[in-house]
Amino acid sequence: MPDGVDLSRRGLFRGQLSARAPEVQLPWSIPWSDFVADCTRCGDCLTACPEQILVKGDGGFPTVNFQLGECTFCGDCVSACKQPLFRPTSEVAWHYVAQIEAGCLAHAQVFCQRCQDSCEPRAIRFSPQLGRVPTPDIDTNSCNGCGACVADCPVGSIKISMPNGKSAA
Ligand code: SF4
Ligand code: SF4
Ligand code: SF4
Repeated sequence: MPDGVDLSRRGLFRGQLSARAPEVQLPWSIPWSDFVADCTRCGDCLTACPEQILVKGDGGFPTVNFQLGECTFCGDCVSACKQPLFRPTSEVAWHYVAQIEAGCLAHAQVFCQRCQDSCEPRAIRFSPQLGRVPTPDIDTNSCNGCGACVADCPVGSIKISMPNGKSAA
């Protein structure tokens, strides 16, 4: 029945609009409201990602899980997608940066510098402090939001997000 089809389509559309934007959208992806309107949730990007960091998030839409690894900005997720959901890969992939959260061991005066070793762009710096354990600082100009530091932090104290709480979309 045509009207039934229309109703179910409208329901599907409403379902898409209510899907919460994930903490981290795919690299080069367009704003969330446009992304959910055209993403078919086929999972092609998940299969294509050589790092296997893409997972189904709210509503079955893809998101990045840095606990599984880092983004190498290879662009394979973009190439695999048949929908118009991505900006050109010649542009910057995203504006996410790493943030150190309250549970960091160094902030609790326990020596730890693991995140520094995992950061290729050398965006995590530990400055010496007299009589205190050095604590990490993120150079947001060098950090590309790759997420390599996230899984390496033994206490899960690194989060990738937009700087200053700005929205990605
Ligand atoms: S750019 Fe490459 S590593 Fe990053 S999410 Fe896409 S497929 Fe995975
Ligand atoms: S790896 Fe984690 S706990 Fe260790 S210094 Fe870095 S943020 Fe802190
Ligand atoms: S997200 Fe990547 S570039 Fe940024 S601090 Fe972590 S490892 Fe370094």
